[in-house]
Amino acid sequence: MALPHVIVVGGGISGLAAAWYLTQGPNGPRASVTVLESSPRFGGKLAVQSFGGVPTDTGAEALLAARPEAVALCRELGLETVPAATTQAAIYSRGRLRPIPRGLLTGVPTDLRKLAASGILSVPALLRIPLDHLLPRTVLHGDVSVGDYVSTRLGGEVTARLVEPMLGGVYAGRSESLSLQMTVPALYRAATQRRSAIASAASVLSDGRKTMGPRKGPIFVGLEGGVGAMPATLVSALRERGVTLRTTSPVQQVRARGHAWDVVAGNGRGRYATHTADAVLFATPANVTAELLDTVNSAAADELRGIEYADVAVVTLGYAANEARHLSGSGFLVPPVEGRAVKGVTYSSLKWNWLGQQARSHADDGLFILRASLGRAGDPLAVEASDAQLVRLAADDLSEMIGLPRRPAIESVTRWPQGLPQYAVGHRTRVADAREWLLNTPGLAVCGAAYEGVGIAACIGSSQAAVSTVLQQLAERREWAHG
Ligand SMILES: Cc1cc2nc3c(=O)[nH]c(=O)nc-3n(C[C@H](O)[C@H](O)[C@H](O)COP(=O)(O)OP(=O)(O)OC[C@H]3O[C@@H](n4cnc5c(N)ncnc54)[C@H](O)[C@@H]3O)c2cc1C
Repeated sequence: MALPHVIVVGGGISGLAAAWYLTQGPNGPRASVTVLESSPRFGGKLAVQSFGGVPTDTGAEALLAARPEAVALCRELGLETVPAATTQAAIYSRGRLRPIPRGLLTGVPTDLRKLAASGILSVPALLRIPLDHLLPRTVLHGDVSVGDYVSTRLGGEVTARLVEPMLGGVYAGRSESLSLQMTVPALYRAATQRRSAIASAASVLSDGRKTMGPRKGPIFVGLEGGVGAMPATLVSALRERGVTLRTTSPVQQVRARGHAWDVVAGNGRGRYATHTADAVLFATPANVTAELLDTVNSAAADELRGIEYADVAVVTLGYAANEARHLSGSGFLVPPVEGRAVKGVTYSSLKWNWLGQQARSHADDGLFILRASLGRAGDPLAVEASDAQLVRLAADDLSEMIGLPRRPAIESVTRWPQGLPQYAVGHRTRVADAREWLLNTPGLAVCGAAYEGVGIAACIGSSQAAVSTVLQQLAERREWAHG
């Protein structure tokens, strides 16, 4: 029997992973697959550049090893992951870098002694925290913002100096908008059963230790040559499996054709081609998916249109190695309350041994490479400032915060317009509703960063789920057609 034809729209990690699982079955491929990518390259937010001859990630740079999906896919592709050399990060608070203490759950403290010793919070803010044990329970009717919940229980400074930098680091988002239910789901569940936020966070951490056992491996891993090299390996492996992969093929429209779908895509030369498929898997950002779904499932499209994005920029800077000798750890986060343009810094040279070695052997006296992230939800800085302005803002902040020279030796800027989806209050219901509406158009499914997690592992997990849905729908349709 001929294999069903599935078109995957979007060639970021979610789309490529979907193609991988569609072509991986006990008896070989389960579908014939075409991936249509609008840009000239595959990988989406995974990208690597040569920076002074050293491969450096300009988008994602680490894989969460606590979830299985990303590490498992690397293994299947024959890619060997490497642990981060250090995960000790700091928060820039009250005028200096302060190591992040143990016992935080997305900034919610469970060990007040360690928190006090870190110096991140002022004394009045520390004294306010224990009120959490006395305040009446915060009744959670549905979702609430992380900022509202934490400020009510623990005081505004915990939100401003602990929660904000954590959420800024992952989502480039603001605590007053982001959903507690989605961004810290285990805390949300615990908080519906307990009065104290501290006790809720402590129960989540202790449950995690009980179910996972003592942590053996590293929390974060990377790839020698950069996480951004993963898409190229995946693309080669997909070609070997017979997948058709097209870049510069922006999908413009999807139309129903009986039980099948016509997918209209540009071909990069001002012409359009229509591809017919039994199923279409959208691995595009939510706003793009919404536009494409509009003509075939406007109710699902309306839900997805409401998902907003933050624009972010990564400024990679190289300094003479001897000027960065005083730095240690993997980098630091900066809360917005500090009034800096930079929201986070990764010391790439210290975090990844392979990168540090290559940078050290750079001509002259060797390089120290770091990445500064700029841009937060609702702030157009990352798309409106010029490259020179972004470099100047980053270098000035670094000079004042960590004593690096005002002028780096080399620099590069990568912008990610609409880089990170914002899981606003109500996101879970919105996504559940969109998925419910999609059931009215069997053969259409969505996956990617917009839904159940922005990290690479979560994206791959969402691809696996979308592939299962689509294959099941195709199997049901075949059974129905054959009586
Ligand atoms: C700066 C930055 C740093 C990050 N760091 C990390 C990290 O260290 N670890 C981690 O786990 N996660 C990180 N993330 C998050 C993670 O990288 C992303 O959430 C993930 O890569 C998104 O993958 P995706 O395939 O869902 O979407 P995307 O990567 O956005 O891919 C979507 C693809 O669809 C294509 N497309 C758009 N419109 C069309 C169309 N009409 N037709 C066809 N194709 C189309 C796009 O060109 C793109 O290639 C980071 C994100 C950013 C922005």
